[in-house]
This record gives sequence, structure tokens and C-alpha cells, in this order.
Amino acid sequence: MADSTTVYIGLGSNIGESAKLIKTALDEFGKCEGIAVSAVSEMLKTKPLGPVDQADYLNAAAKLQTTLSPDELLKSLQAIETSLGREHEVKWGPRTIDLDLLLYGDEIIDRLELTVPHSQMHLRSFVLDAMCELASNLVHPVLKKSMKELNERLGGGNFFLDEEKPQLISIAGIIGVGKTTLGQGLSKEIGCELIREAYETNPYMDQAYAGKQDIALDWQLYFLVSRLKQLDRESLNSGKLYISDYVFSKEQIYAKRVLTEEQRRQYQEEYVIVEPKIAEPVLVIYLKDRPAACLERIKKRNRAYEQQIKEDELKNFFDDYEELFAKWNNCPVITLSLDKFNCLDENDIQRLANEIRSYVWIS
Ligand code: ATP
Ligand code: CA
Ligand code: CA
Repeated sequence: MADSTTVYIGLGSNIGESAKLIKTALDEFGKCEGIAVSAVSEMLKTKPLGPVDQADYLNAAAKLQTTLSPDELLKSLQAIETSLGREHEVKWGPRTIDLDLLLYGDEIIDRLELTVPHSQMHLRSFVLDAMCELASNLVHPVLKKSMKELNERLGGGNFFLDEEKPQLISIAGIIGVGKTTLGQGLSKEIGCELIREAYETNPYMDQAYAGKQDIALDWQLYFLVSRLKQLDRESLNSGKLYISDYVFSKEQIYAKRVLTEEQRRQYQEEYVIVEPKIAEPVLVIYLKDRPAACLERIKKRNRAYEQQIKEDELKNFFDDYEELFAKWNNCPVITLSLDKFNCLDENDIQRLANEIRSYVWIS
């Protein structure tokens, strides 16, 4: 097709004979003047997203060539939806067919009636799985990341921006990796509150790091209570942005590494009371660096109690975080390797802040 643009369409259906409806929609594309279908992904079965209780979906993505403008293409998609019995009632409710314009070349369009790239595609595994089949190296023109990289952030999950939740962004990673530095930079750039881990007020730090096992439980319980004070979902505001320089899930990592079996049993009794009250992050930033490099930073900043830390211990925590995020699917995770990211570089912080804005609800 002369002067055509490559576009990607997301297809979904959960009423009627969904597989047939998706095939019919693809046939209809072929019949439209100015549209040619060049590839289609497998159809994937997907749990419905959002607040409406409804049947499972079938989803797929298609690669098209088109000479139509973005608005003309959207009109054609809507005409096909209507011809296949689509009725527009409930937002995110059941439908015979849904045709979303995901990408139109590398154009960026930001209007209510047409947003391209599709405003939610980077939050949905069912879209990115299909996109990875068709074009895993294709770069998202706003986020400047490949489909593959965006998909890996989701851990197989599907998410939506939920204004009912506090917009908590948690920074995770081992001691000395630079979580607080990053938190300070980001909170300033984005203009939101930074929630800092309460280690300065924890009276047990020195003894704990000196290896006094009998105070380890008090040490960890102090943190547990401070987490509750800071991250109680009742005390954070819905829709408001917060950054914490730790992720609550580190509690279990520490309990495993620093408590005896008996201490852990006692800790767990308190933990199960606290855990359900804690606001879950809507996004995690996982900062990663070599344990040896973190040890260097720990030496440099020279906090007395931290000087006892051995590289082996850091390696253990490193492995624990890797394990935690290998199976994490509670929210998207942006992983940052410090060989490619500098927490003190303003440009790096600005770029990251821009990315973050696509993953949180901003009024
Ligand atoms: P979602 O867009 O979150 O997948 P949905 O597909 O259920 O939700 P619809 O009810 O199909 O949403 O569409 C709502 C409106 O979205 C339409 O009126 C359309 O103009 C607008 N819209 C904005 N950008 C796009 C796009 N890239 N593709 C399709 N529709 C879009
Ligand atoms: Ca849709
Ligand atoms: Ca739609």
C-alpha cells in the first residue's frame, strides 16, 4: 500500500461467540478501503479488568497497514464495532467486540476522543503479550521502551489507574543502593511527599547490627509499627501521590534473615494484624546494583552501625529481592540498574518521573 502507516489494533470480546466475532472483525478490516491486515496474534483468554463483574475475555492484537488518518481509522473501528452488535453502556462492561487503536506509527495524539498510544496499553499484559508476539522490539513512542521491556514490568498482571487508592510509589532495593537519594530526587521532581524509613529513630540499630540476637525481635517490631504509622491505608489520601523509600514487603525478607525461629513466630503474630492495613503500592521502583558497589557506598556515607555489614549479607538480601520481584504481580515494577541510571543525575530523574506519570493516577 502506497504511503501507508503501520498500526496496531487491540481486539477483545466477552459476549457471544468471541473467537468468531474477533475473526469477523479482522475480515471486516480487510474489506475496508485503505486498510490491509498484515499479522494477527494468537487469541488469549483473559480475566476481566476493573470493577464490573463479567465473563472472561478473548483478546488479540493485529498489525495493519493503513492509508487512513488516525481519526478516519478510529471511525472505521467504531463502525465495525457497531455492525457487530457493540452497544456502549457501562464503562469497562461486557461487549461483543472492542477495537482499540493501540499504536499509529510512532504518532502521539492526546485528545479525549483519541489517545495514541492507547492510554492503558502499558498496564495490560493481555495487550503486551499479544504485542510481543507481533513486534517485541517495537518502541512505545511516549515511554521509549520496547514492548518486551514494558511487558516484563507487569509480571503477567493487568492493572488500571485507580483513583480510589493512595498513589503510593515504593522504592525497593538493598541497603546502600540509593533508595533515599532517588526518593528525594523524585519527590522534588514530581512534587509529592516522601515517606522515609524510620531507621534514624529506631533505638535498636546499633545493637542489632552489632549482632545482638536478643534484641532482633524488638528491632523488627519497631519497624513494623513504624510502617503501620506511615502506610496505614486509612491515613493516606485516595488519589494523592506518595513515594516511600522502602517497600513494605521487605518485612518478610528481614524476618527471614535476622530473626530466630522463635522470634519469627512471635513477629508473625503481629505481622498478620498489620499487613492487611497497609496501603499497597501502585508502582514499585526496584533499584539494583552489585552488592560490592553498595558496600562501597555504605563505607563512604559512614553511618557507624552500618560498617559491620559484610558483602555476603548484602548478597543474601540481593537474592531475596530478586526472588521477590521475579514472582511479583501486585503492581507494575520498574527495574533500574545503576550501570544505566544515576540517582543524582537530573536528566535521569526527569526521564524517570515522566515515565512514572503513566503508571499512576494524576488528577
Ligand atoms: P479502554 O479504552 O480503557 O480499553 P474501553 O475500550 O472500554 O476502555 P470504550 O468505551 O470502547 O472504552 O471507548 C471509550 C472512548 O475512548 C471512545 O469514545 C473513543 O473515542 C475513546 N478513545 C480514545 N483513545 C482511543 C483509542 N486509542 N482507541 C479507541 N478508542 C479511543
Ligand atoms: Ca478497550
Ligand atoms: Ca475501546
